[in-house]
Amino acid sequence: MSRKTYKLAVLPGDGIGKETVPEGLRVLDAAARRFGFDLELKHYDWSCETYAQTGKMMPDDGLDQLAQSDSVFLGAVGWPGVPDHVSLWGLLIPIRRGFDQYISLRPCKLMPGGRTPLANRGPEDIDFYVVRENTEGEYSSTGGRMFPGTDREFVTQDSVFTRVGVDRVMKYAFELAMTRPRRKLTSATKSNGITFTMPYWDERFAEMAKNYPGVTTDQFHIDILCAHFVQHPDWFDVVVGSNLFGDILSDLGPAVAGSIGIAPSANINPEKKFPSMFEPVHGSAPDIAGKWICNPIGQIWSGAMMLEHLGEKAAADCIVKAIETLLAEGGPRTRDMGGNAGTVDVGKALAEAVARG
Ligand code: ATP
Ligand code: MG
Repeated sequence: MSRKTYKLAVLPGDGIGKETVPEGLRVLDAAARRFGFDLELKHYDWSCETYAQTGKMMPDDGLDQLAQSDSVFLGAVGWPGVPDHVSLWGLLIPIRRGFDQYISLRPCKLMPGGRTPLANRGPEDIDFYVVRENTEGEYSSTGGRMFPGTDREFVTQDSVFTRVGVDRVMKYAFELAMTRPRRKLTSATKSNGITFTMPYWDERFAEMAKNYPGVTTDQFHIDILCAHFVQHPDWFDVVVGSNLFGDILSDLGPAVAGSIGIAPSANINPEKKFPSMFEPVHGSAPDIAGKWICNPIGQIWSGAMMLEHLGEKAAADCIVKAIETLLAEGGPRTRDMGGNAGTVDVGKALAEAVARG
């Protein structure tokens, strides 16, 4: 069998992205050597700094450039002085939409020694995925504002749920549930209050469930579901939600699972028609940037998700195992996890662990 080569577009972005991405690459490189594949890297410096110099977060043909890659490996985007909507709409949203990354996937897994804010909860209690629909739903751009500034003022915003859009996220979530030991899928809904789109969501969920008799299903209204995330995280295995509900759950889930510094995320085009994008949940952390004390594990774990998506599951599992072992056995930890190691110490320890296997 010929040796595979994966083309990665590497975007460190802003702040601690410039510190975590090199550690992510260090561990990916160790995995590539050990599992026998090659990584061809192309670096892009697109960031808020680029914006300050050029007035653009990325060049006009940015998407065409990235389209040459198999995956995008991103650090963090955003910096004080550049409004969030500029960095979001100038870089992240064009990539997500342009590459039809209709799945946002976040593992919410409490690692050994991880710091969950929930009392008396251990790694056996918190291990689930949040699957968020990433292209339509509540975040449509249709609506309007009339009679502004008058007492007749009114504002509307539409939600858009299409059969194709709903079915494809459901299918992804059911397929993911099939790979999990408990084979359980929970749907986030609010069909008691939102009377057109959410009943439709429920209907498609029930319809899709017929194709997956091996998957146990349940559903909760989003409000009580948030409470259950906190009170009964052990109930969940895979959770699927619309763009808005998924957005909420995919911040709450990693928060329940502990340190923001270790949580990974993926924006996926499952058909691999376009590149998918992998990035840690955290932002650019201006308060600690430049000190080399940030936790690189969220970035490194995002790299593992990327390898799994590319078809290198053994390498991905090896990286996640290395993270678990490092945390369980008291390896180097950054400050956010109660240690005093630097970013590079953690990256090197994990790369060595992956190289040893
Ligand atoms: P976003 O850019 O997504 O809006 P944010 O600005 O709300 O994110 P972050 O940049 O993630 O938030 O930072 C939130 C807090 O978490 C900060 O105090 C930051 O120092 C801390 N933090 C974030 N990432 C890490 C990390 N990798 N290691 C240690 N601390 C982190
Ligand atoms: Mg921020």
